[in-house]
Amino acid sequence: MGSRFVQVALDVPVHSVFDYVALDATHTDIGRRVIVPFNGRPRTGILLAVSERTGIAAHKLKSVTRIVREEDPLPPDILRLARFCSDYYHHPLGQVLALCLPPLLRRPKLNADPAPLSYCITDMGRRIAATALPARARVGRRLLDRLQAGEAVVPAGAGRAHERRVLAAFVASGWAAAQPRAPSATAAAGPPAVLAPALNAGQAEALALIEAQQSQGFQVTLLHGITGSGKTEIYLRAAQSAIADGGQVLMLVPEINLTPQLEHTFRQRLPGVRVSSVHSGMSSRARADAWAQAGQGVASLVLGTRLAVFAPMPRLRLVVVDEEHDASYKQQEGLRYCARDLAVVRARERSCPVVLGSATPSLETFHHAATGRYRKVRLPVRAVPGAGLPAVKTLPPPSAREALSAPLLAAIGQRLSRGEQSLLFINRRGYAPALYCPGCGYLAACPRCGGAKLVYHLRDKRLRCHHCGWSAQPPGACPQCGNLDLKLIGHGTQRIEENLGQHFPAARILRIDRDSTRGRQTFEAMAARVRAGAVDILVGTQMLVKGHDFPRLTLVGVLNADSALYSADFRASERLFAQLVQVAGRAGRGELPGEVLIQTAFPDHPVYRALAHQDYGAFAQTLLAERKALGFPPFVAQAMVRAEAPGIQEALAFLTACAEAGRACDPPVTLYDPVPAQLTRINGRDRAQLLVQARSRRALQLFLTRWGTLLAALPAGNVRWHLDVDPIEF
Ligand code: ADP
Ligand code: ZN
Repeated sequence: MGSRFVQVALDVPVHSVFDYVALDATHTDIGRRVIVPFNGRPRTGILLAVSERTGIAAHKLKSVTRIVREEDPLPPDILRLARFCSDYYHHPLGQVLALCLPPLLRRPKLNADPAPLSYCITDMGRRIAATALPARARVGRRLLDRLQAGEAVVPAGAGRAHERRVLAAFVASGWAAAQPRAPSATAAAGPPAVLAPALNAGQAEALALIEAQQSQGFQVTLLHGITGSGKTEIYLRAAQSAIADGGQVLMLVPEINLTPQLEHTFRQRLPGVRVSSVHSGMSSRARADAWAQAGQGVASLVLGTRLAVFAPMPRLRLVVVDEEHDASYKQQEGLRYCARDLAVVRARERSCPVVLGSATPSLETFHHAATGRYRKVRLPVRAVPGAGLPAVKTLPPPSAREALSAPLLAAIGQRLSRGEQSLLFINRRGYAPALYCPGCGYLAACPRCGGAKLVYHLRDKRLRCHHCGWSAQPPGACPQCGNLDLKLIGHGTQRIEENLGQHFPAARILRIDRDSTRGRQTFEAMAARVRAGAVDILVGTQMLVKGHDFPRLTLVGVLNADSALYSADFRASERLFAQLVQVAGRAGRGELPGEVLIQTAFPDHPVYRALAHQDYGAFAQTLLAERKALGFPPFVAQAMVRAEAPGIQEALAFLTACAEAGRACDPPVTLYDPVPAQLTRINGRDRAQLLVQARSRRALQLFLTRWGTLLAALPAGNVRWHLDVDPIEF
């Protein structure tokens, strides 16, 4: 027997694969995890190829320590997806492949730990556990939160005895049930089926179109349905028929917060179908299990956030991307992929249909639908009989010191007296966004982030930087002029909450933002309180605008949206519009009519006018015409090199060298001049960026491939840099 060599991709930041000796390797090992020595340490890699020869002298090669044969290899379509991703985003293949494994398996040693126990919440638990549990039961509360978010897993190791005792008590009270760990082919005995509503005409037509595609191979369908038009029902039925045909379905959602609610709906409506959730908030053990269930075909439906686009699914027949316009599909670190775009690539690889759903499709998707590359299906009315779209009105902003105008307060009062709910939306957490000295004009700023104002937070009475997390006690006197009378100016969610409490002392007010959901109250538990009618007024950031259905919510107040109108980012209007449509879409979803009041100094701004007419199509066409005239995406393709260094000069000099290297290739692309980033200094480092633009993706890709090699060879010194293809942040 001759020598055998294998090529292994490792999770290291270099654009090459590594050769090793593996005498027993065969072609069936392609896609398997291997443990190999690398720089004196064991590392996990993925075996990509087996061959009889190598370009490297055999005696210089090390041997593979172990081929992990007790696990399934990554399937060929995932290997192809990873290669596409590596080529398109110009990111090392080994680092892309690492994302195709759950974190637990990325480590070289997998301790065979004893079988952990897993529990899920029961309906009784959902209803009464939160109120029945004493406030001081800290471990109990924490476990309950985890249960409500999906499941609670307790490793069998020592030191977890207390948690296991509490869970056993939950089971005894009927609040939780143990669930089997090992993936079993039998479906979970789900709760009884909930009756499906009869589809309305538009839904029936949309579903028929999507189902007809099921046997026709790859096709992208844009499901453009207004908020509350019943898109979820379409996803559900399309999934049901794909599963009945023996297929698996991948459904992506933008937010972790949305998975428990959707998972619950799917479980209820599809009893007997095994649903696996995948998101970054899960324990690594739970994620590894979900991955295994997807990969073994045990889970028929995989529901997850962007990272789920890499889940192995041998029988994948349908891909759904809900809220396809959402910016959270784009990963903003490491491999900067867009899961919505990869979902389309994946469906193409698998020759299966993909449905992109939204009330406010991204202009990219909208453009593809307009030019016939994607098929478009519209759902123009709300699904609940009698529910109409809310009436949208603008109100003049209140005087500078107030946050809420008199008509808005009156509208809230009216809802209170009718026992209906109101929601106030303000995209700014904390108490007050600035500490100001009226004597000299001083504004408290972060010492590490140039120009970033510090936000005052009420609970711990500290000033915080929302960019880097720096915090400090507010100064007793102005550090510039000694004035003792410093003022907090502007409003954040906490101050609005306080304000509402003064106006409506009897109202039950709930604030939902990143601060309030960080503690033991999970988002899901809060949303449950709203649905149960235990809240009168909700105050929150964008966190609460997505996809939630609160039938008694009839008023939405929008505070301070104007600030987004001044943004330099060409996507700002598109984003603001989408956000306001989403938040407006929370009102009047049940039988009660909804109203949206927007406080603005610019009632004639096109964004607000289009919103009042609820006409996304017309607005999107205007924006597209503008983008075409100005040469912005989707009419051009862009990439960005971002660099950061202790000083701005270093960052700019590096980017200038990048641009020169690019121009030397005489490329069919435009290389702009490097510029400092919008907020230049963050966390003590200065940031700059260099934009490249081409008339087509193909032209851009050809250039990036050549340029990438040159960039990798440039001396970077103190500069950290990355390439972002299809950037969405400017
Ligand atoms: P979207 O995702 O389009 O915003 P949802 O799917 O959340 O809308 O649906 C909004 C509401 O309409 C939900 O409460 C859903 O149960 C209900 N619904 C959906 N389809 C129908 C139907 N055909 N008849 C009655 N109610 C429906
Ligand atoms: Zn800072």
